[in-house]
Amino acid sequence: MGSVTRHDYDLVIVGGGSAGQVAAPAAAALAARVALVDRERLGGECLWTGCVPSKSLIASATAAHQTRHLDTLGLEGALGPVTLGTVMDRVQGVIDRIYQTEDADALRRRGVDVYLGHAAFRSPHELVVDGQVLRARAFLLCTGSHPAVPPIPGLDTVDYLTNETIFGLRDLPGHLIVAGGGPVGVEMAQAFRRLGSRVTGPRGAARAAAARGRRRLRPAGARLRPGGHRRRTRAADGGGARWRRHPGSP
Ligand SMILES: Cc1cc2nc3c(=O)[nH]c(=O)nc-3n(C[C@H](O)[C@H](O)[C@H](O)COP(=O)(O)OP(=O)(O)OC[C@H]3O[C@@H](n4cnc5c(N)ncnc54)[C@H](O)[C@@H]3O)c2cc1C
Repeated sequence: MGSVTRHDYDLVIVGGGSAGQVAAPAAAALAARVALVDRERLGGECLWTGCVPSKSLIASATAAHQTRHLDTLGLEGALGPVTLGTVMDRVQGVIDRIYQTEDADALRRRGVDVYLGHAAFRSPHELVVDGQVLRARAFLLCTGSHPAVPPIPGLDTVDYLTNETIFGLRDLPGHLIVAGGGPVGVEMAQAFRRLGSRVTGPRGAARAAAARGRRRLRPAGARLRPGGHRRRTRAADGGGARWRRHPGSP
């Protein structure tokens, strides 16, 4: 690290998730002087709270499902109790293994300077990373996204999960209500159902499931309920949440 003049880059990329990690070595391969900045750690959503943990969880859920249905393969056997903590330990192990091959040193070997710290612009050509100034001809923002928390009345009174927290669960939820019928909601509904939770999803999930494989969700036992976006929640006795149709909803 050093002064402004010693760190003169063609491109500084802010965000070390999938986008930044693809763009940075690609630019370096074209002989650009490249720096990559992340405020936290490399890997972003995909590695820590997205593709990798979800696909690892789905792999365990698929194995549980297939074991319950071994007879369809002409085999015998039974699934023992599912301990979610053990499943999540495996998920974390997969993340750690991948991170070892995609850390800052791996990027440096491919010609990318890596800075960890919060990035803020000081001028159109100067980015400050924890007090250090990086000057560049161009900047590429790959700062990603966060889960959108919908304005469901009462949601602030319950202990809800998002993709940023669900992979930290240690105990299998008795009943998981999934709000949101995009790919992530459908994947989580199916995985938790196959691991043994009761799962309810709103109409959004039903529509998405129709497109992406409702045939796979319903036989797995997930209930798909209408009217997902106009509902209210309230805390239930025992620390859970209740999810009700909003009185004013159509
Ligand atoms: C559960 C789940 C499953 C998914 N499964 C798949 C899948 O199977 N296949 C697929 O293609 N996609 C999948 N996705 C989507 C995928 O995770 C995202 O599309 C992808 O990770 C986005 O990458 P990104 O680099 O744009 O942003 P991110 O990964 O969010 O990275 C942004 C980075 O910017 C950093 N940052 C933000 N602000 C600053 C700042 N001011 N200074 C410095 N750094 C900063 C953050 O720390 C972060 O590391 C899934 C998503 C979820 C939630």
